[in-house]
Amino acid sequence: MTAPALTPGLRDLLALAADPGFPQVQQQIERLQGCTQPVQLTGYSATLNADTGEALHVFTTLDHPTGRLLIACGNRRASRCAACSRTYAADTFHLIKAGLTGGKGTPDAVEDHPRVFVTLTAPSFGAVHNYDKNSRGTRLTCTCGRRHTPDDPALGTPVNPRTYDYAGAVLWNAHASALWARFTTYLRRQIAAELKLKNVAALNKVLRISFAKVAEYQKRGLIHYHAIIRLDGPEGGTESPPANATTDVLTDAIAPAVKAVTVALEDDATVGRHVFRFGEQIRIRPMSTDSDKLTGHKVAAYVAKYVTKGAEDTGTVDRTVTCPHCKGRGFRTTPTGRADCVACDSTGEGFPVRHLVVQQHIRQIIRTAWDLGGSPALAHLNLRKWAHMLGFRGHFSTKSRHYSTTLGALRDTRRQWRTKAAHERILAALPDHEREHTTLVTESAWQYLGLGYAPGEELLAAIIRESLRLAEGRTHEASSGADIAPC
Ligand SMILES: [Zn+2]
Ligand SMILES: [Zn+2]
Ligand SMILES: [Zn+2]
Repeated sequence: MTAPALTPGLRDLLALAADPGFPQVQQQIERLQGCTQPVQLTGYSATLNADTGEALHVFTTLDHPTGRLLIACGNRRASRCAACSRTYAADTFHLIKAGLTGGKGTPDAVEDHPRVFVTLTAPSFGAVHNYDKNSRGTRLTCTCGRRHTPDDPALGTPVNPRTYDYAGAVLWNAHASALWARFTTYLRRQIAAELKLKNVAALNKVLRISFAKVAEYQKRGLIHYHAIIRLDGPEGGTESPPANATTDVLTDAIAPAVKAVTVALEDDATVGRHVFRFGEQIRIRPMSTDSDKLTGHKVAAYVAKYVTKGAEDTGTVDRTVTCPHCKGRGFRTTPTGRADCVACDSTGEGFPVRHLVVQQHIRQIIRTAWDLGGSPALAHLNLRKWAHMLGFRGHFSTKSRHYSTTLGALRDTRRQWRTKAAHERILAALPDHEREHTTLVTESAWQYLGLGYAPGEELLAAIIRESLRLAEGRTHEASSGADIAPC
């Protein structure tokens, strides 16, 4: 009997393991915490004595057994990189929580500022199958006459796909960011009116409105927003708003502002004039420091859970369907003129929409976005590029400048902390009399080499992923925001 052939991964791993530098390889991969597609770099980093220029520690990829340094990809989306999305979610949690309870440079006093958690939805584009219960817990009958279970795949899909306004739905998603932007302007106006101030300029002198928001897809494939809105003094979180700017004033101002917002699409060529607005369903929940109620911790956990998701939770695909070779145009420009794009058969679709393994409803949204994207009158909406996002092309999470810290600042703090720890290790190795007088500087130069692991490294990464998954299952967040009912 012959021994089974080794897979390329195992063969590569055995070769790595035979290298005296294997512990270094292992360490490098452990640091990535299971990142799916790390960035490969070559170069060096040297820590020098600032006064003498003497190199006290040098790392160069020339000395590394693999000849390169791997760093985590940093992708936000769980569908692309579970490991990096966890870091992103944790950073978002801290950022959102800092804006609600203070910390990371935001004063604790923000906890006493008026704060609400708001959900803004899309309007209806046709009846969809839904699951609801009445106050006694009895399942309600859907428009279709059936009583659905909460896991029924039909939920969120149109009761009558033939009459469902797909173009309206896609175009609404494409205008969702503009609606939000206009809402923030109208909210300022409304609060100025509630406080009996002459105009927004007068409001800005006494009060600032800070926001943090996250976009989420509903099952029906439409965006809705969860937002934290906080009232501050004119300089932001460090100052209290005027005493008459209460949570009630903020709450009362939101619904009229939402209802007043419209964004118009002037288009005679394709779909006709459309006026977009938010849906009737608005939820405004005041926040509290009482642990039984909606606290900053719960809201931050809830928001953090959503920032690592894209539209893929609706069952769509997580990358663009446009052909990368012709950028979705179906042709390429050559020195002799236009040539058909062979890669996509001149369709412009990198992955044919008809072959996408998605629910029929989602395919129809993608198809509609794709078709509308072909109209020159709608070119500014870039619908082909964003068809896989069901037309939405905004940012998934945004915050106003004064809300709290930034993701960049949190990353910098982590980087500085790592450098400081490395410097402390180097200083600790110096003789006592030198340590006090030594200032360290680090200089480095890196070049991009590529993406991903070698086959053997991938096996090591898979082992780390599995052990992290098991550990996570054991300690699953006691502090999750799951008790905030999803919409
Ligand atoms: Zn990653
Ligand atoms: Zn139904
Ligand atoms: Zn093409």
